[in-house]
Amino acid sequence: MNAVYAKAVLALGSNLGERNDTLSSAVADLVDPPEVRLLAVSPIIQTKAVGGPAGQPDFLNMVLTVETSLTPHELLKHCQAVENKHHRVREVRWGPRTLDVDIITYGDVQSDDPVLTLPHPRAAVRAFVLYPWSLIDPAATLAGERISALAARAEDYGDLAPFDGFGDFDGMPTAGAVTER
Ligand code: AMP
Repeated sequence: MNAVYAKAVLALGSNLGERNDTLSSAVADLVDPPEVRLLAVSPIIQTKAVGGPAGQPDFLNMVLTVETSLTPHELLKHCQAVENKHHRVREVRWGPRTLDVDIITYGDVQSDDPVLTLPHPRAAVRAFVLYPWSLIDPAATLAGERISALAARAEDYGDLAPFDGFGDFDGMPTAGAVTER
């Protein structure tokens, strides 16, 4: 019998160590098992850390869409195993971390369970999730609203910048990239 696959949206962030290398190998690890198939990968964006201790390094963030035959909790365990493999540092809540993987949505599942809240409770107000997600899934909605509209309203929208892989981007926004408000 063919397994049933559900679409899931995963958000990745890193603000410690070799951030780009971490994201690259985390993407490979996340879609390594046959139960998790890659649908799309967003560009990497650079964002200021939201909340947590002041002065922490900028985050690199990205979003993946996958289809998976894992249950939501199995997918969470898998994401946490990938975080642990990359030696995630969890000393301070919302502090720097080598890798953070969140499940943003899993099909149409809605859950208030604190172990796995779906959709992710803060996704609708985080441009660093909504904006890269909108680039690979423009028709997606959260709470009945287009994610690109939610992104433009999010407080951190102005803090996003393209990431060119070689350093901070300090020029004009490129086509399709974040524009100034
Ligand atoms: P954080 O430190 O922000 O990554 O939070 C990790 C905790 O959030 C874990 O204990 C998870 O069980 C819980 N959690 C609840 N909902 C989600 C979700 N949608 N994706 C990832 N972790 C979640």
